[in-house]
Amino acid sequence: MLTMVVVLAAAIVACVVGERLSWALPVAVVLGAWAMTRLPDIDLMLGIGHRSGLTHSVVPAALVALRKRWWALAAGVALGLGLHLAADLFPNAMRGYATVKLPVVKSIGAWPSYVWFAANAAAALLLGAWLLRKVVEPTIALVVLGAIAMLALTYLFTTDGGWWALTMFGGAGWLALGRPQPGKRSNFGS
Ligand SMILES: [Zn+2]
Repeated sequence: MLTMVVVLAAAIVACVVGERLSWALPVAVVLGAWAMTRLPDIDLMLGIGHRSGLTHSVVPAALVALRKRWWALAAGVALGLGLHLAADLFPNAMRGYATVKLPVVKSIGAWPSYVWFAANAAAALLLGAWLLRKVVEPTIALVVLGAIAMLALTYLFTTDGGWWALTMFGGAGWLALGRPQPGKRSNFGS
């Protein structure tokens, strides 16, 4: 977990460097995503209840996205969070440990947890795909998505919902790449 904090810090540095050197932007996206595939579970260490709604939601990514200069970092954070939340959507059983915890109300229960994870995973992946299209060219975006998928594999293979998460991630990737932006031609079909 500490490693992932360091990776996130590196992503922040890359995002700052990216203001001057554009090659650092895709690096910021990849590192941010890699860190956020695991960092939501830092709630275990913070004592805010496991699968806390504070770390298991689209909110952290949305906060980073508030400033345009942070969009590369936000794209990574959103994609990583999306992968993590998509995996958490498919536990062996949605009870106890697996449900979403909120401050005061504690566990929100099984069905609300499914809805929570589905809505937040979709929102995070869509936000990430949208931001990625804004910060890098489609060709770079494809490389970035591939790199994130590779880095996330070790996490996803050891997680119950890993395959589903990868499938949803692929869908987000299609959205990020599949439809060319106005005035730009994409090589990846339409
Ligand atoms: Zn989690």
